[in-house]
Amino acid sequence: MQKITLSNGVEIPQIGFGTWQIPSGIVTRESVGFALRAGYRHIDTAAAYYNEQSVGEAIAESGIDRSEIFLTTKLHNEEHGYDLTRAAFEKSLKAISVDYIDLYLIHWPNPIAHRHHWQEANAGSWRAMEEFYRAGLVKSIGVSNFAERHIEELMKSAVIAPMVNQIRLFAGERQEALVSYCRRMGMVLEAYSPLGTGNLLKNETIAAVAKAHGLSAAQISLRYLIERGFVVLPKSIREATIAENLRIFDFSLTAEEMEMLDRMENSVSATHNPDETTF
Ligand code: NDP
Repeated sequence: MQKITLSNGVEIPQIGFGTWQIPSGIVTRESVGFALRAGYRHIDTAAAYYNEQSVGEAIAESGIDRSEIFLTTKLHNEEHGYDLTRAAFEKSLKAISVDYIDLYLIHWPNPIAHRHHWQEANAGSWRAMEEFYRAGLVKSIGVSNFAERHIEELMKSAVIAPMVNQIRLFAGERQEALVSYCRRMGMVLEAYSPLGTGNLLKNETIAAVAKAHGLSAAQISLRYLIERGFVVLPKSIREATIAENLRIFDFSLTAEEMEMLDRMENSVSATHNPDETTF
């Protein structure tokens, strides 16, 4: 499994299994089980996916040692601030039934529940997360959907800089300025919705490259992001596609193909401005 080293020396597998919109219970247990059997060793969940417990059950059922699995979860949008974050983190540990998390992220910079005081709320959440980190309860800490202005604000009181920003990235959605900024700050970028939540797979440019390689549109979409140095987090509930998405480390794209994919327009949908969402 290809890995990337975070700024604190922790290694993160470059592909993780995404679990957003996978219903809790049997579907999550089966999907995460398929992923672990196929060879994924990195699972991405969140309190807001309401499937943490099933993810934990699947990990336990797999028989794979906890230390071999890189597990990410995220702070719920309603639980920002020091005290709420401490309680929310406890809840996640209990739900997943683990005694540490590999990567804990603030899911959203300024959710509606805390929009009136997001700066202070994030500072409090981050202080709590730094404590979890020092106590060894989380191995790495980071953010998600943060724009430069949110990171700058966080850094006014942060002692430890975020190691990761998990943002929406796929061929056509490059967020170049934010990616450069995060890299200058020493952060690793995780590409969420790497297949545009499935809607990128009918794109003609991707289809042409896929045809040339005799591979699927999903494999090309993921390989493109891998070659750009991002962690990718594809989601699927089907055993065959879960395995297919992992077969992206034994081929590469040509410089011309990379350029063609770099030049693509966003054919899926615009990424939300995190300051204007209704959640
Ligand atoms: P993806 O971009 O991974 O696309 C998933 C869709 O593509 C599903 O409909 C899936 O179908 C389909 N699919 C997957 N692989 C294949 C394949 N090989 N061939 C054909 N179809 C395929 O979706 P997400 O938007 O869920 O993003 C992935 C992950 O990123 C999330 O699950 C979550 O972990 C993370 N994320 C984080 C966010 C954040 O705010 N931090 C926001 C959004 C996502 P099917 O399931 O039916 O097999």
